[in-house]
Amino acid sequence: MELFDVYSLYDIEPVSGKGSYVYTADGTEYLDLYGGHAVISIGHAHPKYVKAIANQVAKLGFYSNSVQNSLQKTLADKLGKITGYPDYQLFLCNSGAEANENAMKLASFVTGRKKILAFSKAFHGRTSGAVAATDNPKIVSPFNATPNVEFAPLGDIAAVEKALSTREFAGVIIEGIQGVSGIHEPGDNFLRQLRNVSKEYGTLLILDEIQSGTGRTGKYFAHQHSGIKPDIITMAKGIANGFPMGAVLISPVIKPVKGMLGTTFGGNHLACAAAIAVADVMAEENLIQNAAEIGEYLISELKKIPGLVEVRGRGLMIGVEIEGDASALRKQLLFEHNIFTGGAGVHTVRLLPALCITKEQAERFLKEFKSVVNQKSA
Ligand SMILES: *Cc1c(COP(=O)(O)O)cnc(C)c1O
Repeated sequence: MELFDVYSLYDIEPVSGKGSYVYTADGTEYLDLYGGHAVISIGHAHPKYVKAIANQVAKLGFYSNSVQNSLQKTLADKLGKITGYPDYQLFLCNSGAEANENAMKLASFVTGRKKILAFSKAFHGRTSGAVAATDNPKIVSPFNATPNVEFAPLGDIAAVEKALSTREFAGVIIEGIQGVSGIHEPGDNFLRQLRNVSKEYGTLLILDEIQSGTGRTGKYFAHQHSGIKPDIITMAKGIANGFPMGAVLISPVIKPVKGMLGTTFGGNHLACAAAIAVADVMAEENLIQNAAEIGEYLISELKKIPGLVEVRGRGLMIGVEIEGDASALRKQLLFEHNIFTGGAGVHTVRLLPALCITKEQAERFLKEFKSVVNQKSA
């Protein structure tokens, strides 16, 4: 059988990892500034994480959501503490798209309304509702495109108010920081305006923190830099360091009704064991503080490099826009300097390293990045 060939692949296969490094079978070491797409939060193959998963699978890997599972409660307590949302409610699922589906569905249940407002260049996932709220014609099929989703320009509060004042919108969904579009921040002030306007018209504010959450920006969630509290928050990528898990954090005001949401695999024992280990390691090793410090260092040093168009982002969620072809530059970094980076659009290099990245590793990246940029502009 052939694989359905939808991915553009680098001709390289990491087979093992440790912290911020991955290795190919011949032992070549690569510095990972991409974290497997913002998924690796505590580093590759962290011993505590490996042990937690191994122990759990040896005991009980799975049972359904028809019985008590105290691992879910343990995880909810830990996430309550580490996120600063101890009074919110937790619903567990399996991916980012699924978390957003549940968030939008919940908003519709709660308000009795049909419409969702999203933002230009947004990415919310590839399942039916999530992709409908995504502003990228290449990945939205005719089946998904629906008049129930409208888009406003990011930062345009007048456009938001015009839409929401119809009182037809169940929810407004926004990324804490846009990732796929190339690292674009909504701005703290815009988020505060959005909080006020959505409240005024009875629309639930859904923060998609799937990429920008889990401590990446130096606070647990990117929106926490603005001081607002959303009604619903979605998480996935870094929550279990690569074990598939999505999560929806739900305001205490929203009351659950039996059967309104559900999933077979969501919140299973193995996924919970993985996510608990991640939350523990993040706290024990002060990884959010590290993300803030190394992120600030990386951003300020990148801004000193001449010839770049723009450096955007917060903490360890960084977009570096260059004049030329970013994919060529990333290839050169990978194949000549053994450094993984992410892409976004034609001109942007995206940095999404594990939160455990060290100052020395950041320095090495900066040195090699500078040499590649200098070569290009020479
Ligand atoms: C990755 C991502 C998603 C989708 O997550 P999947 O686990 O791939 O379904 C949704 N929103 C944002 C902001 C993302 O970065």
